[in-house]
Amino acid sequence: MSRTSNPIADFRSDTVTRPSRAMYEAMAAAPLGDDVLGDDPTVLELQEYVADLLGKENGLFVPSGTMSNLIAIFLHVKPGEELLCEENSHILIYEQAGYAQINQVSVRSIPSERGVFDAARLKTMFRDDNLHFPQTKMLSLENTHNRGGGTVWPYNTLLDVCRTAKEARLTLHLDGARLMNAQAASGRTAKEIAAPFDTVSLCFSKGLGAPVGSILVGSRDHIRAGLRRRKVLGGGLRQVGVLAAAALFAMKHHTARLTEDHELAQWIATQLAEIGPEHLRLKYDTIDTNMVFCEITSERIVAVAKTAGTTPAGWFAGKLAEKGVLVLPTGPATIRIVTHRDVNMEDGRRLIDLAAVLATLNSR
Ligand SMILES: *Cc1c(COP(=O)(O)O)cnc(C)c1O
Repeated sequence: MSRTSNPIADFRSDTVTRPSRAMYEAMAAAPLGDDVLGDDPTVLELQEYVADLLGKENGLFVPSGTMSNLIAIFLHVKPGEELLCEENSHILIYEQAGYAQINQVSVRSIPSERGVFDAARLKTMFRDDNLHFPQTKMLSLENTHNRGGGTVWPYNTLLDVCRTAKEARLTLHLDGARLMNAQAASGRTAKEIAAPFDTVSLCFSKGLGAPVGSILVGSRDHIRAGLRRRKVLGGGLRQVGVLAAAALFAMKHHTARLTEDHELAQWIATQLAEIGPEHLRLKYDTIDTNMVFCEITSERIVAVAKTAGTTPAGWFAGKLAEKGVLVLPTGPATIRIVTHRDVNMEDGRRLIDLAAVLATLNSR
């Protein structure tokens, strides 16, 4: 663990991971060029490596997953056209409606169970050919699904939905920010999961532990057009091999260990459940990957938080933070706990011990 001297156990997100010494060494040793001029060898190596791993022709290294999704939407949907995505997807909720601001396209959202829906549901979204309607061009799925609780799409459902979308001539994009977590949890390779999609976005800066960066992969033509778009969005970077080296290191050394994060999340969920649903209740009854969502049900905490002028989740997170354990409030009474390579079992025990004391204090 790179974290041993850090007194803070940070469970807010897997984006908080810091580079390890070995990752810094890989960054320092990376050959560099000017990537806007197209000659940074480390960026080229990363793009080829990930494209190959995901079974696509080429890749485009970008500063963030938001930019990656924005470029994908640009490739598949013209101004005035429409894209379909799931109702709690990152594209819809957490990207400032960039699809509307930047791409000038509209979105229709698909209801789901934890981010997953079936082909029959998708079919209810299809429009007739009618001049009153926008034309639907693209379907975006998210795997693993963030707000759904780190959900992995069941593979046959995924294939079925993608086949149905293809039959309706929709282009398919995968927001695979945590695609490698889906691989680790499902026994399906990232290549198999990516196979039905025209473009796939993957983040290096989540559980993979690189400090910065995402990639968009797809056909050579898509990536050529995406390269132009990246430039106008301000995403053309120069000696960015220094960051691509961190991403390459993460892909090669940090994917297999994601199962450890999943095991720790599972353990935390089991322990939280034992505290009792009258105090804390798991929002979802299964934990697929590295996320645990927990609702604060304790009547005492609800009352104390109200007196303090905050939400139960805000109060609970504040109390944990006083003891050096960070979690993320994601609703008035909901907190999110995410595991990653900079927290370990010891941190998990700290979290559970504190949560048990806080949740049950004065409750009898
Ligand atoms: C984190 C994330 C992104 C991209 O976020 P950035 O902060 O822009 O890198 C996209 N989709 C999902 C599902 C994510 O979790």
